[in-house]
Amino acid sequence: MLRIYNPISRKKEEVTPGHGRTISMYACGPTVYYFAHIGNMRTYSEEDILKRVLIHNGYSVKHIMNITDVGHLVGDGNIGEDKIAMTAKKEGKDAKEIVTFYTDAFFSDLKELNILLPDKTPKATEHIKEMLTMIKNLYNKGFLYKIRTGMYFDTSKFKEYGVLTGMNFNKMNENLIAGARVKREHGIRNTTDFAVWRFLEDGNNWMVWDSEWGRGFPGWHIECSAMSMKYLGETIDIHCGGVDHIPIHHTNEIAQSEAATGKKFVTHWFHVEFLTVNGSKMSKSLGNIYTLEDIKKKGFEPVALRYFLISGHYRQKLNFTFEALESAQRTLEYIFGFVERLTSHMKFSEKSNKKFIDFATDAKSKFFKSLDDDLDMPNALSSMHLLIRDANKALDKNALSEEDIAKVLDIMLSFDEILGLGIGKKIVEEKHAPLDKEIEDLINERNALRGIKDFAGSDRIRKLLLDKYKIIVEDTSEGTKWKKAK
Ligand SMILES: [Zn+2]
Repeated sequence: MLRIYNPISRKKEEVTPGHGRTISMYACGPTVYYFAHIGNMRTYSEEDILKRVLIHNGYSVKHIMNITDVGHLVGDGNIGEDKIAMTAKKEGKDAKEIVTFYTDAFFSDLKELNILLPDKTPKATEHIKEMLTMIKNLYNKGFLYKIRTGMYFDTSKFKEYGVLTGMNFNKMNENLIAGARVKREHGIRNTTDFAVWRFLEDGNNWMVWDSEWGRGFPGWHIECSAMSMKYLGETIDIHCGGVDHIPIHHTNEIAQSEAATGKKFVTHWFHVEFLTVNGSKMSKSLGNIYTLEDIKKKGFEPVALRYFLISGHYRQKLNFTFEALESAQRTLEYIFGFVERLTSHMKFSEKSNKKFIDFATDAKSKFFKSLDDDLDMPNALSSMHLLIRDANKALDKNALSEEDIAKVLDIMLSFDEILGLGIGKKIVEEKHAPLDKEIEDLINERNALRGIKDFAGSDRIRKLLLDKYKIIVEDTSEGTKWKKAK
């Protein structure tokens, strides 16, 4: 049973589906005006771990992630330009081109990081009707007011406003005013009020739609409320996102969704902490915002980045450095090396090593227990590494039977259902890598020479296979085996 931390009750709570055996999971997706950075990828990778653990626990997961292609303003609040419109202008391109290019880039990043794709990725621009229906509902219930720039949600009318932040409405407003973090728009009633619809009439050919209150485009927050409701219903089992979404985006999603339906919007919140770079927050001015492309250009495998991103606890900050990434890549090579050793080991003990198998089974159950406890990945990984260490020792002594080794391999594959490093795929690729005709002929020729005890001849071919084709041949009791040299 998976328990995750609830930021409202501040306790770990068991995740249970609202309906049957399906967990509804909504993840705030990207605003497609630029490449996602590695901090965003940390959030999506941790959400992927959550999803894989739920699947491992026998649930099916209905996973929806929105694509924000309009309405997200620079600064996340009410002021500033639309991020996509701004990029289009800057790059001298059509907004549609920007959206298509960065949406494709986003999905390609997810795939390279072995992130299981959502069931649906609805786009904001294709759900304007649903947003306007929700806005109308909020308007009829008296939650909205109109000012020059748009239709605003009156946050003083929603009595639980701010619940996710641990502050109430008054405290949130006081803090915002004291910190002068938000420039108040003329006519706005409370500093925390936010636009659900922004007016945009002329002088701009950016995407605008008609509404009964005036032409314009939706606010960023209303997009998630309207799309999650369309695909997952009025109450979602799990809503995910980065911790940066807590004070504005998710707080406003709760307010407008619950005001509209009178029902609880989300049963479990799942917030992933920040990724820092060299101890600092990522920022343009520090030039420390990296994308997956930057990581690849430096010679790292995407899956090494995945391993690094998932190796911390999702509720703790994780600090990225290239040294840490190098260490992740080395660990990954060590894990793959171990799996390769399991699949190519040829000296077996005759009887099963019961003591070791009990230890391995225990390591497996500890791995999954740690994950069930609020996704404690550092603990889960340490169980895996203890298993690898002791299995290596046992292999050194040829103290495992063929069945024991198969069991350890099975456990490694079950870990990888969660870790998503591609261990299974790697084994399949190695075992079934097609053998060149030329190599096959050489191996056969070598076998024939061995048959007539021409060992000088067979050694010559062994050397040729290694030097020219990087193939290592080994003669075992079960015949000649070969593998690719590193
Ligand atoms: Zn959202």
